[in-house]
Amino acid sequence: MSAFDSAAIRAEFPGLKTDKGQDWHYLDTAATAQKPQAVVDAVARAMGEDYATVHRGVYARSANMTLAYEAARRTVARFMGAQTADEIVFVRGATEGINLIAQSWGGENIKAGDRILLSQLEHHSNIVPWQMLAERAGAHIDVIPLTEEGKIDLEAMAAMIRPEHKLVALAHVSNVLGSVLDVRRASDIAHSAGAKILIDGCQAIPRLKLDMQAFNCDFYAFSAHKLYGPTGIGAIYVRKEILDAMPPWQGGGSMIDRVTFEKTTYAPAPTRFEAGTPAIIEAMGLTAAIDYVERYGIEAIERHEAALVAKAREALSSLNSVRIFGPQDSAGIISFEVEGVHPHDAGTILDEEGVAIRAGHHCAQPLMDYLGVPATARASFGIYSNESDVEALVQGIERVRKIFG
Ligand code: PMP
Repeated sequence: MSAFDSAAIRAEFPGLKTDKGQDWHYLDTAATAQKPQAVVDAVARAMGEDYATVHRGVYARSANMTLAYEAARRTVARFMGAQTADEIVFVRGATEGINLIAQSWGGENIKAGDRILLSQLEHHSNIVPWQMLAERAGAHIDVIPLTEEGKIDLEAMAAMIRPEHKLVALAHVSNVLGSVLDVRRASDIAHSAGAKILIDGCQAIPRLKLDMQAFNCDFYAFSAHKLYGPTGIGAIYVRKEILDAMPPWQGGGSMIDRVTFEKTTYAPAPTRFEAGTPAIIEAMGLTAAIDYVERYGIEAIERHEAALVAKAREALSSLNSVRIFGPQDSAGIISFEVEGVHPHDAGTILDEEGVAIRAGHHCAQPLMDYLGVPATARASFGIYSNESDVEALVQGIERVRKIFG
């Protein structure tokens, strides 16, 4: 069913082995992906024999690390289809990236009476920073509803948007439903009303081909740990003319041009947004993660996961009393509930079978309210997932039904 040599790929991920040497059915990749040995090795090298600071040292080791750090920025820019590496700011992750944009761009551009447009399925990290901004500025939040199948309703968006909307912020792929957004269409609708658009790409970056120029969005945020890379680093893309006009958000070393007690001038973007010693080691890990993904090809990963989701959807929907949430063509993620069983109980029983799923509100409480459930069970797939994971999931759910039946 897949061109991937599943056994060979799994062998590259030390985290997938259990103590007893058996495979672990890890179905929580949407929370965080396991890391291939190539990433572990790159991090160890950066922390060991290659380690030095960036941007300051006059000695060769530091100069080399600086070149590697800036090469990481170019790698991210290419992977995202940005026009230039100057449009990429390294941050701790998507959450920090969205907060940076809300504070810097939002602080300058969102005024009393303005409106911000979000959707019903957003992750808390694409809700709360905007609420905090709206409260400070005296702005308002509006919410785009979902279609019946669980996608952001772009018809409704087009009908709702008006000139007071200065920003639209939407998930490219829902972390609960796996629903995929037509980013270009959403950008066109936002721009036609004069709004900027931010895309939360956390769940898209490990499974969909990105192209900032074709998408024509203004901001795009992701975390490296969802892309088989380390925690503690991510990046935002910001269209160059917007980033060049944004004020700094944190002050400190590296982000300055000249400091006196009377006045400080700032470095150009993107350096202006990277105060302090950056995540040097993590940037090397992120580069290795992108190299790893590109070795197989993001389109091949997308097809591989789509086949697994289709198989899981078919198997789960053939079981009585399992309710599946989200659209047929969800990307890499499937949410469900076993009727009469709390998802936490289902998750605990599955864990006994060596199957790790996520159970909870998935940092999307407004979506849970909309679905009318306190929580869902969620299985999510990655490059290393295979048919045996789906079979173990289905067998585990059958056991859950027997126990609670
Ligand atoms: N948005 C989405 C859609 C996510 O899935 C996540 C992570 N669960 C985030 C934002 C936040 O990412 P992080 O915690 O890495 O900053």
